[in-house]
Amino acid sequence: MRVLVVEDQHRLGQFLLQGLSECNYTVNWVKNCAQATDALAESAFEVVVLDLGLPDGDGLDMLSKWREARFNEPVLILSARDTLADRIRGLDQGADDYLQKPFSLEELLARIRALVRRQSTKKQTVLNHSGIQLDLLGHTVTVDGELRDLTSREYSLLEIFMQNHGRVLSRTLIAEKIWSSNSFVDTNLLEVYMSRLRNKLEAPCGKVFFKTVRGVGYKMV
Ligand code: CA
Repeated sequence: MRVLVVEDQHRLGQFLLQGLSECNYTVNWVKNCAQATDALAESAFEVVVLDLGLPDGDGLDMLSKWREARFNEPVLILSARDTLADRIRGLDQGADDYLQKPFSLEELLARIRALVRRQSTKKQTVLNHSGIQLDLLGHTVTVDGELRDLTSREYSLLEIFMQNHGRVLSRTLIAEKIWSSNSFVDTNLLEVYMSRLRNKLEAPCGKVFFKTVRGVGYKMV
């Protein structure tokens, strides 16, 4: 996990470098806007920790330019500017989080972890399991690379299984998610959909993806 630290104050920079390195982050510490922009152009970072008062410019102006240039990774501002207006301005200009100086290292680390977590869920647009690939953006499904034509209900059903593979999902839970209801009729309907999904996914490749758990529901294996 790579972190870019932009901080001109030597002691604080050292402290961040050491604190983050001890938590197994790979830290690149730079001290001004020019170096920061160069660093971003040269390598990929999962998180940027950004001071605002920098010797060759304002961190906030630089951040706006990064966002205009489609730099989408999370940025945490670390600043002594501590009014509510400062924090709002920072977030409006593209920061994902704002921590006031002085700060506790523990809190900074927790916030970085939260940013990384959010980013990684945001990025997961393709689900993979046992040769099935479900593309959440393209709304397509392939099995061993071959495209399968699913209706939107079948697709939603498969998505629930892909998100929870290995877990037993009750009929009512599935019906609730798909039809926003848990009535008896819908759980019967679910059986119809399950057999269609099996026909489309399992039959052509001879694999078994879904297991019926008697009296409860289904499980993706
Ligand atoms: Ca500074």
